[in-house]
Amino acid sequence: MGKILIFSAPSGSGKSTLINHLMQLGLPLGFSISATSRAPRGTEQHGVEYYFLSEADFRAKIANDEFVEYEEVYGGSLYGTLRSEIDRIWSEGKTIVFDIDVAGALNIKKIFGQQALSIFIQPPSIEALRSRLLGRGTDSLERIEQRLAKAEKELSFSPQFDKIVINDDLATAKAEVEKVVREFIF
Ligand code: 5GP
Repeated sequence: MGKILIFSAPSGSGKSTLINHLMQLGLPLGFSISATSRAPRGTEQHGVEYYFLSEADFRAKIANDEFVEYEEVYGGSLYGTLRSEIDRIWSEGKTIVFDIDVAGALNIKKIFGQQALSIFIQPPSIEALRSRLLGRGTDSLERIEQRLAKAEKELSFSPQFDKIVINDDLATAKAEVEKVVREFIF
């Protein structure tokens, strides 16, 4: 059995930027591509950011016990981790990197225990989050308010994570993530 890194954060915390940075350092890491029933955003591609499934396909895979965990997020969209992703990445001898919501992160940590390190990326404030989400311009105002409401709830779970990285200054946060990851995988 291999190792697992779990990254979680309220959306807009800069988590994707930090994970993208981590993934191009040349470390033996493999990104776990989640499945989702939401539509692709911007330049997202099937099999890169997510496996984009119809809701019917997603529910068929739930019935078939193909998910390690799944969640219904934002009242409708389904997100989940396929067992086949874990097998694929461990068979390559790599540590798995998860980018997943707080509930999913805590579930995975509970399943994998010491094999897993959970890392919470914390935004400096809810106001900073709001301006990042507005600046990104990919979501409607209604969707942004939903994400912020969820973010406030998610922030209260941060003490349950193994590590907390505050993303105020991006360069500092990148360096801290790299240090924490190197300590865990080597
Ligand atoms: P987004 O729509 O912004 O890509 O992601 C919405 C939320 O779903 C984020 O918090 C993201 O981390 C989470 N998410 C992505 N993949 C998974 C997954 O496999 N399982 C769970 N539980 N959440 C996920």
